Amino acid sequence: MKEVFNFNAGPAALPAAVMRQAQAEFVDYKGCGYGIIEESHRAPQFDEIIQAAEANLRTLMGISEEYDVLFLQGGASLQFAMIPMNIALPGHKIGFCNTGEWSSKAMKEASILGAEIELLYDGAANGFSRIEGIEAWEVPQNLAYLHICANNTIYGTQYKQFPKTGQVPLVCDMSSDIMSRQVDVNKFGLIFAGAQKNIGPAGLTLVIIRKDLLQRVPEGLPTMLRYTTHCKSKSLFNTPPTFAIYMLRLISDWLIELGGIEAMQKINDKKAALLYDYVDGSGYYRGTADKASRSNMNVCFRLPNEELEKQFVKEAKEAGLIGLKGHRAVGGCRASIYNAVPQKGVERLVEFMQQFAAKN
Ligand SMILES: *Cc1c(COP(=O)(O)O)cnc(C)c1O
Repeated sequence: MKEVFNFNAGPAALPAAVMRQAQAEFVDYKGCGYGIIEESHRAPQFDEIIQAAEANLRTLMGISEEYDVLFLQGGASLQFAMIPMNIALPGHKIGFCNTGEWSSKAMKEASILGAEIELLYDGAANGFSRIEGIEAWEVPQNLAYLHICANNTIYGTQYKQFPKTGQVPLVCDMSSDIMSRQVDVNKFGLIFAGAQKNIGPAGLTLVIIRKDLLQRVPEGLPTMLRYTTHCKSKSLFNTPPTFAIYMLRLISDWLIELGGIEAMQKINDKKAALLYDYVDGSGYYRGTADKASRSNMNVCFRLPNEELEKQFVKEAKEAGLIGLKGHRAVGGCRASIYNAVPQKGVERLVEFMQQFAAKN
């Protein structure tokens, strides 16, 4: 098998050790003679898996009993609608901080549902190249909640601190940096993430919701769209994405073995520093996000021109470094260096970038 390093933004790299374990267990799960992908979601084998996955998440992120942990479908994008459907409050505005595509899309869904929006911060003015003045943001205390996006996968910016919201529940899209760094869950009302960036395969959406917010869920919402349905049934109201939950369990086992999120964060800091330091000093590549806001997960950079960017992506692929094309909305190049991308992959990328710059 040829060695490839995967810098895809999502679906993205998964830990090699986990992939091998899943392969080994695929056709014969723990000697039962068939695969877990073929098992009922009501079976004891799967029950053990979903419970272990939840317990692992609670351990890794320090999630208290004040929160429910839900394994849903529909992606982070469905949460853009489900959140206002469930926890908006009649007569109260919803606050948003617009730091790029994903917060814009969330705002759009809230608007479709008829919510009034208070835009607390708009990064459009600086082309979403930074998130500034967070400590000075004043959050009106009558907002239903404040929605932010922790890490902007497309623009490569990341909150280095979170806004203080007082009594207003903070709702956070952590799709592209969940479990990459230590976060105090108690500061949030609701955290959600599509699994396919940092914690698993596509098809699974994680929601961590503070239980008191469930009192807001209005009558008249369809059953599948109510958080309360999934809380009561422990994410087993209907068939959940069983294989994706199995993978999340393995990935969370792997993280625990590695030393937890604290250890993971150190590795991630090192990987990001390696790449940014090279880009900054290269005199050839140019990082697109401001230093103070740049993401440790998605490193966005430009080459001297678009022609060279195309050539770079193509030659990198030939060298076994895949997924380096920037998002179509912004162009350029992007290296997504999620938890599962090893330090060696980043080292290899830097070497390749050096060679490419020397040649071109
Ligand atoms: C990818 C991404 C989304 C969209 O996720 P889907 O699961 O495809 O709906 C939302 N928010 C952020 C921050 C993302 O990176």
